[in-house]
Amino acid sequence: MAEAISFLEPRADVLARRSAIVADLADLLAPECLIHEQRELVPFETDAFVSYRRLPLAVALPRSTAEVAAVMKYCHRYGIPVVPRGAGTSLSGGAIPQEDAVVLGLSKMNRILDIDYANRTATVQAGVTNLHVSESVSADGFFYAPDPSSQLACTIGGNIGMNSGGAHCLKYGVTTNNLLGVKLVLTDGTVIDLGGKALDAPGYDLLGLVCGSEGQLGIVTEATVRLIAKPEGARPVLFGFDSSEEAGACVADVIAAGIVPVAIEFMDKPAIEICEAFAKAGYPLDVEALLIVEVEGSEAEMDDMLASIVAIARAHRVKTVRECQSATEAALIWKGRKSAFGATGRIADYICMDGTVPLSQLSYVLKKTSEIVDGYGLRVANVFHAGDGNMHPLILFNANDPEDAAKAEAAGNDILRLCVDAGGCLTGEHGVGIEKRDLMRHQYADVDLAQMMSVRAAFDPGWILNPSKVFPLEGRNAA
Ligand SMILES: Cc1cc2nc3c(=O)[nH]c(=O)nc-3n(C[C@H](O)[C@H](O)[C@H](O)COP(=O)(O)OP(=O)(O)OC[C@H]3O[C@@H](n4cnc5c(N)ncnc54)[C@H](O)[C@@H]3O)c2cc1C
Repeated sequence: MAEAISFLEPRADVLARRSAIVADLADLLAPECLIHEQRELVPFETDAFVSYRRLPLAVALPRSTAEVAAVMKYCHRYGIPVVPRGAGTSLSGGAIPQEDAVVLGLSKMNRILDIDYANRTATVQAGVTNLHVSESVSADGFFYAPDPSSQLACTIGGNIGMNSGGAHCLKYGVTTNNLLGVKLVLTDGTVIDLGGKALDAPGYDLLGLVCGSEGQLGIVTEATVRLIAKPEGARPVLFGFDSSEEAGACVADVIAAGIVPVAIEFMDKPAIEICEAFAKAGYPLDVEALLIVEVEGSEAEMDDMLASIVAIARAHRVKTVRECQSATEAALIWKGRKSAFGATGRIADYICMDGTVPLSQLSYVLKKTSEIVDGYGLRVANVFHAGDGNMHPLILFNANDPEDAAKAEAAGNDILRLCVDAGGCLTGEHGVGIEKRDLMRHQYADVDLAQMMSVRAAFDPGWILNPSKVFPLEGRNAA
């Protein structure tokens, strides 16, 4: 296990009261809603950032907002750290507990509460999975736009925590652009409602603040999200290139021309081979880089947009242009892309980075990324949301070799610094978590971080909510 990232020292007073805390929580929750036996805590010791793990003190699985509020009120009273958790698919260690923390899991709050087609909204409990929202309205011709590749498992609460995105967010925006309201339990157990079905509530945009706050400002128990009518038609098209740089430059030129397809996804050769071996999606294997470009609308609209994109691709010496011929083929193309991380896990351990760069820097950053990873003697596969400039280099390594693991982390940090230096940022959609906590100093000046921490402390003066995430441990203005 890698140990480069340190954890907060657990609070001795909290650890000493473990049995009393469990007994008190047992008064607030039904027996099936509280986990405290060591072997049953194991599934909660990490998330998808698997190199790091800690057993939590206990896991609370409340069934209602009132139960969440009761747990928060209790933990606030005794200064017990609380780590909110959805499905635990965070790739940045956002849901990894600390030894003195109560993990507050939302998995039992998994009901769709209201579908309102007149206002095109759905109100759901925080533990509902992302895909379930779209599935619930699909037969009526609607969908929920943000589509993380983990959408089968990840929850709406976790999506709000990380302000998650996905392949189809180029046109429709990420979680924050599709979120209309939340019910939020504050650190002392007070319940507040932010936003609602109507647009643009007056006053400060606290809803915008909560989205992406990584479980540090409160616990989301319910969310109202935007539903979108399905387009008349949608068509993914494959564009193969002889170099990653040409593919990157093509993406930049498409966006610069003011063309906004629904999705532009990028795969380099290693990623194409890995995904094709898994999904048999029909990706061309004789190219160095592949773009999956999806257009939508009427047949005429799609033809029109595609003609402009093909013209730009030809200027970048595109080698293959393949339009998808059937719904089955389209599904396979997306299956290949969306299983990229899982398919990579079949051949090697990997860490997935998540930097964002201005599109004009895409080709340069791709080239430098290869050089960085080569320099550490490792391999990289790139598969990412190119239209948003949101890069996901997957650095392949051997987790059983501590030296290899350390090299992978170092390469990842170098790549994220490169993204910042190229005018981008440390995270596009996976959040800061514990993974990028210390790199926040590379992105922000101390004065910027201090201002953010003041906002955080206004919601949670005792810093009990997910305390070891987002901000460097040293220099925090924690109480
Ligand atoms: C294979 C794979 C593919 C992925 N693909 C994508 C992708 O395409 N796009 C993308 O954006 N991400 C992706 N991710 C990352 C991850 O799925 C997202 O970050 C997701 O939103 C996490 O949801 P979760 O329910 O698992 O939350 P968790 O991992 O449990 O928690 C995430 C964060 O949110 C906080 N949190 C959770 N629930 C609540 C709540 N109710 N109230 C307040 N805070 C809360 C947690 O404390 C934590 O900080 C992928 C992950 C995997 C493993």
